[in-house]
Amino acid sequence: MADGSWYDADIDHVIISEEQIREKIAELAKQVSADHTDAEGGILLVCVLKGAVMFMADFARALAAHGPSTEMEFMAVSSYGQGTTSSGVVRILKDLDRDITGRHVVVVEDIVDSGLTLSWLMKYLRSRSAASVEVVALFRKPDAVKVQVPVKYVGFDIPNEFVVGYGLDFAERYRELPYVGVLKPEVYARS
Ligand code: 5GP
Repeated sequence: MADGSWYDADIDHVIISEEQIREKIAELAKQVSADHTDAEGGILLVCVLKGAVMFMADFARALAAHGPSTEMEFMAVSSYGQGTTSSGVVRILKDLDRDITGRHVVVVEDIVDSGLTLSWLMKYLRSRSAASVEVVALFRKPDAVKVQVPVKYVGFDIPNEFVVGYGLDFAERYRELPYVGVLKPEVYARS
């Protein structure tokens, strides 16, 4: 927890460092690019707000080093549920702004936990006649998976703990952390 930023005081331990994230994103971009060299119309990146916002920004820039060209779309969904668990009942808060018929879609996800949100999202996007739909998820918790979703590109498998940072929040805080870590128990106690 390196540099003594204000948020370091709330972090119990770091799980994935800023440097590990940067290196992994470069690898993921290379793989996704290699698999989409012939993708007509380029790749349509669909970012799932808000957690994937940091990943989307860095991943799109890493892809630019290789090609093909990308366009960006944003969706916001809310999974009914309280606190730190998701229920699988999904409501669209912000839908796609355009028709994705015939497009090569890559869903940019922050984390696959139970897999319930992603499973719903994949069905939704496939029903909109995309040419292909793949998922790139920066994090996955293998021990928490309730529904198997085919996630072709995964950054890191992490322990089944609630994590914050690099886009992931607790009560809308900590998204700006450059790394991913676990909060100290007293942070939950005081909120
Ligand atoms: P799932 O439906 O796979 O259980 O999780 C869906 C969403 O819950 C993720 O996209 C993410 O936004 C949120 N989520 C899952 N696990 C965590 C976690 O450990 N920390 C935070 N901050 N959000 C999480």
